[in-house]
Amino acid sequence: MSRKYLIAGNWKMNKTPADGADLAKEIAAFVTKDESVEVVICPTAVALDRVSSVIEGSAVKLGAQNLYPKASGAYTGEISAEMLRAVFAKYVVLGHSERREYFGETDAFVNEKVKFSLENNLNPILCIGETLEQREADETLEVNKTQLLGGLEGVSEEDMPKVVIAYEPVWAIGTGKTATPEMAQEVHAAIRSELAAKYGEAVAEKVRILYGGSMKPANADELLAMKDIDGGLIGGAALDAKSFSDLIASAR
Ligand code: PEP
Repeated sequence: MSRKYLIAGNWKMNKTPADGADLAKEIAAFVTKDESVEVVICPTAVALDRVSSVIEGSAVKLGAQNLYPKASGAYTGEISAEMLRAVFAKYVVLGHSERREYFGETDAFVNEKVKFSLENNLNPILCIGETLEQREADETLEVNKTQLLGGLEGVSEEDMPKVVIAYEPVWAIGTGKTATPEMAQEVHAAIRSELAAKYGEAVAEKVRILYGGSMKPANADELLAMKDIDGGLIGGAALDAKSFSDLIASAR
């Protein structure tokens, strides 16, 4: 497989800038320059600048948790792509289920953000995933297809290798419940075949599809062994240097 594993830590609304800097220092010490795994950490907006200085010169990359799809202006509380680039962010998490649920983000809005991030040299990590009710109603593949194609509307074939998809079943996020490797693989394979239908096989083979949802050192090996799982988007287990390092080691 030519896809490089990606382990991304989503710190959500955790860690002050000082605490984030300490954690980033420990992670940077663990990640080698010739790392076979791409490692990204996504602190809160106020910690981005400080964490960026700490990881400068290391192999750890910086990601943001959100952006607003306008260049600048009267958008109180929001953060622009230019601001993220100014602190050397390379990735941005978009469409996380928490943003869809608590902040009413729709596929159309997430799509605007995905396109805006690509236009501004930021790699989007597009999150999709079904709720428990949707899984129980046998709607899993349909829901993921809708969110995938909605988020990628108008995204060109050339830009697709810069896009990362994160499949995050909502019922598995922060709950301690993980999809079995087989359950996750089924959805990952379906996502890849949707990408192949839209962009062709060669492009679909290049796109990394991460699993997210209570991924931890104890279950990482078997999830990462699946053919279409190319890494993880990690919440809780990314807040501790030891467990995050163990996850990186699992992906090596
Ligand atoms: C996430 O929110 O992206 C996530 C996967 O969280 P957790 O690992 O805590 O389930």
